[in-house]
Amino acid sequence: MNPPEGPAILPFKTLKERISDIARNAHRNPEDIQVLAVSKHQSIPDIQAAINGGQFDFGESYVQEVQAKLTQLTDPRLVWHFIGPLQSNKTRWIAEHMHWVHSLDRIKIAERLNAQRPAHLPALNVCIQVNLDQEIQKSGIELQDIPDFLKQIQGLTRLRCRGLMALPKPRENHEDQRAIFEKLHQSFIALQAQGFDLDTLSMGTSQDFQAAIEAGATWIRLGQAFFKQSE
Ligand SMILES: *Cc1c(COP(=O)(O)O)cnc(C)c1O
Repeated sequence: MNPPEGPAILPFKTLKERISDIARNAHRNPEDIQVLAVSKHQSIPDIQAAINGGQFDFGESYVQEVQAKLTQLTDPRLVWHFIGPLQSNKTRWIAEHMHWVHSLDRIKIAERLNAQRPAHLPALNVCIQVNLDQEIQKSGIELQDIPDFLKQIQGLTRLRCRGLMALPKPRENHEDQRAIFEKLHQSFIALQAQGFDLDTLSMGTSQDFQAAIEAGATWIRLGQAFFKQSE
């Protein structure tokens, strides 16, 4: 899977086609895989170019950065996903302005988001971040703690828990990438079998999205691979 040589003529289509090919080869429907364009550190003109190309879902990791961007990017079709670390003093703004949060990993934060989600907005979509590699400093809960976590947030009616998210540490080898994503996928299936109503697996970045699609990702979160296309 080498990237194409030379300047891309149909930049957005090229990535889409690649994703479709990967999906079909994995016997999946390409429509079940959505691209989250991770726009952290990207300029307003570059994001605007992506919007003009038909991309409406954007992922951001830093509240201050997305606050500044939202003053300039006001297209009502935009869907904003918060994918970064969640601090208590930033939950109100997130609850008021984001459509999704992929990085939920603390009950206290869930309770705050639930209480602060404005009544005129639909419930906030959330994914639980899972720490697949048991990295000490990394955000996320352990796999075995997911059912308890889900039960604890079930009563929070202003949150709609959609599924699981992970950012495993980078692996060079495709089979290793696939194996770690498969681990999350297996948990996801087991939770569905236990009756949890989940439809979302947010996993895979520019480095490993092929493996993530093969292992069942429904959102792939692409920064470099998405924005570098148009350069
Ligand atoms: C930055 C980021 C990404 C995108 O990474 P790329 O390697 O640029 O595709 C995806 N997920 C999270 C949580 C991120 O912080």
